[in-house]
Amino acid sequence: MESLIVTVNRIQRACTVLGDHGGDAALPTLWEALPSVVVVGGQSSGKSSVLESIVGRDFLPRGSGIVTRRPLVLQLHKTEEGIQEYGEFLHLPKKKFTDFSMVRKEIQDETDRMTGKSKQISPVPIHLSIYSPKVVNLTLIDLPGLTKVAVEGQPESIVQDIETMVRSYVEKPNCIILAITPANQDIATSDAMKLSREVDPAGERTFGVLTKLDLMDKGTNAIDVLEGRAYPLQHPWVGVVNRSQADINKNVDMIASRRKECEFFATNLDYGHLARKMGSEYLAKVLSQHLESVIRARLPGITSLINKSIEELEAELSHLGRSVAVDAGTQLYTILELCRTFDHIFKEHLDGGRPGGDRIYGVFDNQLPAALRKLPFDRHLSLQNIRKVVSEADGYQPHLLAPEQGYRRLIDGALSYFRGPAEASVDAVHFLLKELVRRSIAETQELKRFPTLQAEIAAAANEALERLREESKKQLCEWWTWSHHT
Ligand code: GDP
Ligand code: MG
Repeated sequence: MESLIVTVNRIQRACTVLGDHGGDAALPTLWEALPSVVVVGGQSSGKSSVLESIVGRDFLPRGSGIVTRRPLVLQLHKTEEGIQEYGEFLHLPKKKFTDFSMVRKEIQDETDRMTGKSKQISPVPIHLSIYSPKVVNLTLIDLPGLTKVAVEGQPESIVQDIETMVRSYVEKPNCIILAITPANQDIATSDAMKLSREVDPAGERTFGVLTKLDLMDKGTNAIDVLEGRAYPLQHPWVGVVNRSQADINKNVDMIASRRKECEFFATNLDYGHLARKMGSEYLAKVLSQHLESVIRARLPGITSLINKSIEELEAELSHLGRSVAVDAGTQLYTILELCRTFDHIFKEHLDGGRPGGDRIYGVFDNQLPAALRKLPFDRHLSLQNIRKVVSEADGYQPHLLAPEQGYRRLIDGALSYFRGPAEASVDAVHFLLKELVRRSIAETQELKRFPTLQAEIAAAANEALERLREESKKQLCEWWTWSHHT
């Protein structure tokens, strides 16, 4: 069963590398399908302390005020006995932190890198893995604490921003909520319980944790809460005693503080009967077991989501086409290949197989003959006009052979009538060819993913057509002047 959590840890890491931390409704997200444990509570309620004592190491930045300003995804990996424990950040792969005070410094630095030195928050998580024989396999997420007012240096929106961020985590049905409430505060005013009740009214995925049991006023105890009467949840409440600020300042280590915690429950008259089910170590075990059972229940759903995503992505990939090579030679080959495909489609339009080319015949079969028929030859070659032209050219003197000048003029005049329809035919064919180029480009599926190449091919084809139009017209002209002079 342990390997299940390890597998989910690995999938979560993959999600982060790929930029999937949920929350973005525009894209399908695997992250949100994976169960995780999220720590919520008011500022200074003891969230980071609970996380640390579950891990059994000091590594989180702590202090008063807002310290946790980005989500921290903490993945605990249990290793074999005797292996030195270390931490590793996803943003610094291959760098093993064996000094946990350096882990804390890196969390601070990495937070600042994203948010600046200001008191801003950012929803982009920091990923930290801890490999140790002493931890249980578990993924925990530390979040900024809920606050009520913006303090010096913070933007007014921060109260709402934090709540929005925390809510985006805890409202996911796959999120296991570790709701932290300090015992020296009335449970009725607990931020953690307020939010978790909103998103999980039946208390099915909320684990209530009571911190600071050692700080309760003399003569009061938290039995009502811990026994589930004051605030019933499906899972039993767990009380913990973390290190006080004084302990931290005195560098009391984790082992000593765990011992102190055990002693506290064992010797306290109020909690003696609950001692077995209290404390950080017990909390870690309960969470790990619960996470496993949740993963087991969700496994079929996760598997089918992954399979479905793979199918979708493969379909998309084949739609987009194979990847383009990086070296210039292969790229040139690909471009030529694409041009050839376009060329082939264009030819099909001209030769048949695809429609459109027949309209070019139409120009020569219908348009041109119709235009020629309309030419005013009747008038031009009427006896009256012939007489007029001939007498203008050759005068009244009698002709020996034929009135040559006049004939020439008549032929010239007739030929000049052809020029208009012939040029109109060139334009008409040009227009049709341009239209076929446009259609052929649109029909070249392979070009769809290369809009620039598409535009280049269109430009080159149109340029060639323009040149050919000019050439055709020039040929008409030459033919015309040639006949004119012979
Ligand atoms: P966070 O803001 O919720 O992450 O709270 P921290 O974990 O940073 O704790 C805030 C302060 O409360 C620190 O000074 C801790 O030492 C102190 N603290 C947390 N839990 C306990 C506890 O169980 N007992 C005592 N005495 N102090 C605690
Ligand atoms: Mg904190």
